[in-house]
Amino acid sequence: NLYNIVQDLKGNIRVYCRIRPPLNTSVQNIIDFIGSDGSLVVIDPLKPQKDGKKLFQFNRVFGPTSTQDEVFRDTQPLIRSVMDGYNVCIFAYGQTGSGKTHTMRTSSEFVIWLLMIFSNSLPKERILSSSLTMDTLEIRSCVSDDSLVLPDATLREVKSTIDVINLMKLGEVNRAVGSTAINIRSSRSHSVLTVHVQGEDVTGGNILRSCLHLVDLAGSERVDKSEVSGDGLKEAQYINKSLSCLGDVITALAQKNSHIPYRNSKLTLLLQNSLGGNAKTLMFAHVSPEGDSFGETMGTLKFAQRVS
Ligand code: ADP
Ligand code: MG
Repeated sequence: NLYNIVQDLKGNIRVYCRIRPPLNTSVQNIIDFIGSDGSLVVIDPLKPQKDGKKLFQFNRVFGPTSTQDEVFRDTQPLIRSVMDGYNVCIFAYGQTGSGKTHTMRTSSEFVIWLLMIFSNSLPKERILSSSLTMDTLEIRSCVSDDSLVLPDATLREVKSTIDVINLMKLGEVNRAVGSTAINIRSSRSHSVLTVHVQGEDVTGGNILRSCLHLVDLAGSERVDKSEVSGDGLKEAQYINKSLSCLGDVITALAQKNSHIPYRNSKLTLLLQNSLGGNAKTLMFAHVSPEGDSFGETMGTLKFAQRVS
């Protein structure tokens, strides 16, 4: 399939950019050009002349008129490869309000779709959900097989698409409660949905194990220290650190470095088995097109450019 062909040429990391439609059309739009080859030109609202134009190149750019269906079609082969035993990680990066949750909801629908197609042939699928804050989340390595153990998270078996939907809803509720408790906006938390897939191949009876991580990252915007204090500030700092650690890991992978700094944050430790090695990673870089988002949009695009 197309995904595998592109992967062979470019390694295991792909970066897609998605531009949200403008919420307020009276504000200047900073998206100057979207190429079908994955190129994108952003224009500085304060320097509308030529020197204010910045060119970026990604594997693909979804413009403001792209539909969920287009995103779904493009990502389907990647999700499917989980069934071939690949670990897959899809994550959405970008400032709050740029469309991360909107896209990841489509990805969650993939999971349901996946279940519908494969549930007959799969003895087990599991979803892991946890609402702990990053600083309290405990992650241990299992000595025998090096797998991760999260003592406070629950691993539940699912048998139907309804089970999946209900677990996703529970995750959303937990996330909201968690963020109220530490007095920060829910956008300042990561949401990680992990699907463990276990199956038996038809011929040899080999057990096939793989996992899919769907990660709706916390908003990447700079947090003003006056906005949060105490535990909220501490958590905000953890979030910022984890986002930059994720960037470091992806960059190290993209550059094929020998040392990949997974251990620098809990987020990267948690996602380790689906970042690098044989795993396939897809990052959605989400941007807002409004002029007042120019700084954050540039920050997101530079972050994404680093890894592609
Ligand atoms: P984030 O999760 O990054 O904070 P959301 O996904 O909640 O952002 O999106 C913010 C708002 O913009 C929501 O109301 C959402 O429905 C809308 N939105 C985002 N992306 C799109 C899109 N591609 N098409 C239409 N509406 C979108
Ligand atoms: Mg969101």
